[in-house]
Amino acid sequence: MMKALIQMILHDKKDVLLAMTAGTISGLTAVALFAQSGFLISKAALMPPFYIILILTAFLKLFGVAKSASKYAERYISHRVTFRFISAVRMRFFKKLVPQTNLLYAYKSGDLLNRITSDVDLLQHFFLRVVYPPFIALFVFFATILFTLWFSPWLALILMMGFIFTSTVVPAILIYQKSNTTVPVKNAFTNEAAEYLYGYRDLQLHYQLATKEQSLQIISTDYSRLKKQELNREQSIHFWNQFISLLTAFFIVSVGAYFVSIGTLDGLYLAMLVLVALTVFESAIPLAMLPSHYKNAQEATARLDAIAPPASPTERMPLVSNKPLHITCENVSYTYQNTLHSAVLHVNCTIAAGEKVAIVGPSGSGKSTLFQLLIHEFKPISGEIFINEQPMRSIDEQELWAQMSIQLQHNHFFSGTLRENLLLAKPKATDEELQQVLDQVFITKSLTAIVYEKGGNLSGGEKQRLAFARVLLKNSDLWLLDEPFTSVDAQTEVHLFNTLLTKGKDKTIVLITHKLIDLAKMDRIFVMNNGTLAESGTFDQLLTQHGLFYTMYMQQIRCDKK
Ligand code: ADP
Ligand code: MG
Repeated sequence: MMKALIQMILHDKKDVLLAMTAGTISGLTAVALFAQSGFLISKAALMPPFYIILILTAFLKLFGVAKSASKYAERYISHRVTFRFISAVRMRFFKKLVPQTNLLYAYKSGDLLNRITSDVDLLQHFFLRVVYPPFIALFVFFATILFTLWFSPWLALILMMGFIFTSTVVPAILIYQKSNTTVPVKNAFTNEAAEYLYGYRDLQLHYQLATKEQSLQIISTDYSRLKKQELNREQSIHFWNQFISLLTAFFIVSVGAYFVSIGTLDGLYLAMLVLVALTVFESAIPLAMLPSHYKNAQEATARLDAIAPPASPTERMPLVSNKPLHITCENVSYTYQNTLHSAVLHVNCTIAAGEKVAIVGPSGSGKSTLFQLLIHEFKPISGEIFINEQPMRSIDEQELWAQMSIQLQHNHFFSGTLRENLLLAKPKATDEELQQVLDQVFITKSLTAIVYEKGGNLSGGEKQRLAFARVLLKNSDLWLLDEPFTSVDAQTEVHLFNTLLTKGKDKTIVLITHKLIDLAKMDRIFVMNNGTLAESGTFDQLLTQHGLFYTMYMQQIRCDKK
């Protein structure tokens, strides 16, 4: 991806060139400013005519203004390049990330947040601290050495040696010191902090707050230590840079003084050359940090790439809409990342248009996973799901989801009003329509009632009923519901189930449920067990089979009687 980064930067060729030109001018005018001051001091000591001093001072002012102006231009343009670059990096990352929501469950939310923020922020420095400084340093030094050459080849040589030292030896020392970046520790800290905050109540109830706080404290200390090391490193770079700069100036003074004494150099220029040597090293300071910034950028891209492997672009076709829709699963399997067992294994089934199918089975048997496959949230690891003989993975997802009314096991609610949360399902619905579905799901709150973030002020049952209200509102041809009524009271559940069957009379319905008593009203029942489709058939067929469904059913009846 390093190559991709460079390409993204070069996208802005004009600005990159402008920034580099401004940077070089700013470096050179700084050198010129000091050279001029040195010259002015020496010249003034010789009592020249006043107009010479005047001219020299005017030049001094000019260089001063030019330095500030070019520095400003450099900052302005290079930041513009950086902002565009960073937005390109973010876009690239998100474009890869968004289509693979199923991948995200494998990551801790703190970790994800970190990658999106810290890692992208690290890359922000890629242009300003990796790509840009060598060019500026090279140009500025090259011009300055040429300038010095004009006065004395030997002094130019000393300057060149100084440059080689700062640009190679100092970075080499730092590489040798081998530093650890702070990012992994910072990641660990955010993860722990996120766990601590999310789990605060549970930790409190289980008397585990202190333990968690302790581990947070340990990581935090670790982080501070690494951060301090990082600062120390930066300090030492400044030290070495200053040291070499002074050493070079020292040699220039000594050797220069010798040349003056033997008459090969005009004493007038000595102060100027010394000040030049002292200034030119400023532009070499960033070079020392370059390897570590490069390494940081590499690690950051690796982490970003790890979470978002390059997506293989697939042509998506429109859904050939010869309604009504039917679904076919052919040998469908799915395994979660980092797990050994398949959550869904070799499932074959068909769901005819208009059919009402219930999926039942013990907890953890793979019902929700199959559900996610059916709604194309997950893609099968092997096998294929078809809608009207068209492979699901070849269909444009927007069109696919437009045909589905979905109620997930856990549904999201946004902070806002009840109305806004319902309009998600049907943006153009009128208030009457909204009120009607609210009545149908027995919600007595008004449309303007406030909903907190994540539906924090809604009970489990209210959330489920509102999610069901969204299904009723959207009213597409395919209804898919994952345990929609588990948190509502038994009486309301019966009502809602009846509403589902009457309102969805003409629809294809796939319903995951634990409640087996009512299933006589469904056309067919799929029984999942250990990821496989163990039994399927009508309610009566399954009961007479005396298999898993029969056992589960009898158990439930016995429990209900108690
Ligand atoms: P059900 O809905 O029937 O209760 P699920 O489909 O949710 O079952 O889960 C099936 C299996 O997959 C279970 O063993 C569960 O532990 C596992 N599983 C579910 N979600 C994940 C996940 N995100 N990562 C890894 N394993 C998972
Ligand atoms: Mg489930």
